[in-house]
Amino acid sequence: MFDQLVGNENVKHLLRRILGAGRLPGAMLLTGEDGIGKKLFALEIARALNCRSPRGVEGCGACPACIRISNFNFPQSAESDDWKKIIWTDHPDVGLVVAPKRVLLVDQMRLIECEANYRPFEGAARVFLVDDADKLNDSSANALLKVLEEPPHTSHLVLITSRPAMLLPTIRSRCQMIRFSPIAAEEIEKYLVQNKIAAAKDARLLARVARGSIGRALSQDPEKFTNQRQAMLKVLKALAAGDDRIQLLRSAEELNEARYKDEYEPRLDILETLIRDAWMLALDAPQTSVVNEDLLPQLTAISEKLDRSRPGGWISRIEEMREQLIVNINRKASTDALFLTMAAASGLPPKRRFLIK
Ligand SMILES: [Zn+2]
Repeated sequence: MFDQLVGNENVKHLLRRILGAGRLPGAMLLTGEDGIGKKLFALEIARALNCRSPRGVEGCGACPACIRISNFNFPQSAESDDWKKIIWTDHPDVGLVVAPKRVLLVDQMRLIECEANYRPFEGAARVFLVDDADKLNDSSANALLKVLEEPPHTSHLVLITSRPAMLLPTIRSRCQMIRFSPIAAEEIEKYLVQNKIAAAKDARLLARVARGSIGRALSQDPEKFTNQRQAMLKVLKALAAGDDRIQLLRSAEELNEARYKDEYEPRLDILETLIRDAWMLALDAPQTSVVNEDLLPQLTAISEKLDRSRPGGWISRIEEMREQLIVNINRKASTDALFLTMAAASGLPPKRRFLIK
């Protein structure tokens, strides 16, 4: 049932209407931030099509078909070649492909093409999810195009991505796009408290820093988050108070420590929210727009020293670093360079600096 999913009421409404009219497209593209529930919605579509005792146009969530649809048989080991195949649920008509490493493979698309041609084994429709569809390269995208051209009417492809711009236009144009919006902080907070995932005070903070992604809120450990944020607050202080290079290099070193390897990107995320908050305060935005509201006194003190022309450049540097992280780069050298170029960045955006030069 769509009602059990958090947020995105307009998407629920749209899907109910399409299902009610019996016009579910052969190919859909679900877009929106990571951790917003796109895959859960895709599974609800699969349930709606295959449920044995549907509630209106929706799956009941309780019959054997609905239950089996939510149970994926993921390979046991990260090295298994089974990641290169279709990962089936316990239901023989619902499967998923994920990128085994950095790209989705041609062979995976050929498997979908082959399977999509079969009539459903058990239910009324076969549903194939393609997760992180932005990881299609030219070859795998072309292999997928073959399926998208003429999917049998009992087979449905659901592509999922947070970066739709990375997809070939030919793929995008063959899918009905369904856009997901960030979930309101209040809704995430309510979910965390109602499901006893976090204490009320932690839930408020986690919901605010999750930036609309329930997945992000669920993956945060409040204590770990507080430590990460303390470390990033030092970076912001050093930048704002006239580029304390010793502190910046020390922070870069800490960020590169092996034990924080998995925390690298979350820490950059946190640094970005802190920069935005201080920037907002420096621009006299209302205090309610501050994400890290429990740090209001510290952020206000930072914002008073902040040269308002600089935070925009800092955020651009972080975004560039994120892009570079997608390709393999030397993290250590890049982190030192990141903090030092942030320190050196003038108030002008890079393009204008170039023109003046
Ligand atoms: Zn059911």
